Amino acid sequence: MRRRPFTALLAAGVAITAFLAAGPTGAAEPAPSGAPAPTYELSVPVRSNAAADAALLEGKGFDVMEGSSADGLRVLGGETERERLTALGFRSTVKRELPAVQWDVPDAADSTYYGGYLTVNGQYAHMEQVARQKPGLAKVVDYGKSWRKLKGKGGHELKAICITHITSEKDCSLDPKAPKPRYVVVGQVHAREIATGEIARRWIDQLVDSYGDDAAVTSLMNSTEFWVIPVANPDGVDIVQEGGDAPYLQRKNANTDNGTTCANPPTGNSQSGVDLNRNAGFKWNSGGSSGDPCSPAYRGPAADSEPENTALEGLFRKLYPDTRGPEVTDAASPSTRGIFISLHSDIRMVLFPWAWTTDDGPNDASLRAIAAGFAKDTGYTYGQPGELLYAASGGTDDWAYGELGVPSLTVEVGSTTNSACNGFLPAYSCISESYWPTLSKALLNTAKAAKAPYTVS
Ligand SMILES: [Zn+2]
Repeated sequence: MRRRPFTALLAAGVAITAFLAAGPTGAAEPAPSGAPAPTYELSVPVRSNAAADAALLEGKGFDVMEGSSADGLRVLGGETERERLTALGFRSTVKRELPAVQWDVPDAADSTYYGGYLTVNGQYAHMEQVARQKPGLAKVVDYGKSWRKLKGKGGHELKAICITHITSEKDCSLDPKAPKPRYVVVGQVHAREIATGEIARRWIDQLVDSYGDDAAVTSLMNSTEFWVIPVANPDGVDIVQEGGDAPYLQRKNANTDNGTTCANPPTGNSQSGVDLNRNAGFKWNSGGSSGDPCSPAYRGPAADSEPENTALEGLFRKLYPDTRGPEVTDAASPSTRGIFISLHSDIRMVLFPWAWTTDDGPNDASLRAIAAGFAKDTGYTYGQPGELLYAASGGTDDWAYGELGVPSLTVEVGSTTNSACNGFLPAYSCISESYWPTLSKALLNTAKAAKAPYTVS
């Protein structure tokens, strides 16, 4: 399962090194200092016979490439892997150093996987390209670093794109007093929910491509700031895309500090990392999350322990003023502006706060009405998580509403017309066929409420 064509592996680049460095048990290695180790294609002379040696190395977690050459097996790795090979009695020579991932100039092998979904590098290249081509409409903002980036294990900057008709330096500024309301759409908080990154990417394109042509889009772009984060959990998505045509079901980030016995490669039910949507610091650990580090719903060792969350929350504090008081019963001010939508998959629901309790939130009527509007356009059901599923704490939606008063929706995307298009890994063609037609409409219509969301009823 891990043997794939060499070109497909270039997609994950440096991240592969970090992934392998975690070892077959998922045990975390000490963080290297400085830049991540280079990744090599190694030649490993055959010791007994090629098939047996390949099986042995694969069993030890090495990435053995398809097809051995005259000078031995071909193995991907860095200095850590070379030391491990030596310890196992194998010699290795560097056949070639792999080029560093260039996110701004991706080739075909580096930009997509699984039939057309954009890799993290592909998403970032797309955002930069949009901003370069439409500087009057879009600006890319780095808002933090992923867990692996901070540990020097590869990883990524965290990137958002602000889209609006930019007429002054106050537009797209990191200032909660900026003139236009903020409509924020976030994808792939949960890495394996791959449809959501693609929906976010299409949302970016719909906005910039329709400006000047479509009256509704043009009007909204003149009056509203659209912030889009297609990949809120890029380290997790790196792991997902390492599966190539069989993407790994990594839901969480790539933090390996807490669980040493989780499956590696990850499975749907056993994986290292922290669930970013159970880790946010509002009512953290109030139910609906797990304390098991290998659980897909692991809440982490402390509230807001994960850099992806503190970065997102830091960005939100720069985009939204706090309009809600400290008590859970305090309603957000009627003058609140903006909306936040977190995209998830695949149960076709529009969820709104509170998620941590079955009690209604203090702005329930408006939250419910905004969710109902989104549900009408998509055919999804709507309600609080505790009404439709189960209450769950530590979500980014409860954080944004609880801490800042921002009306927040968690939209569980999916297909209402073709059950074969549901699941975490829908075929890429499903997005055009049965996701995007209704979601494009719902995202646009809901944006009209961003100027005065708590007057919606
Ligand atoms: Zn999710």
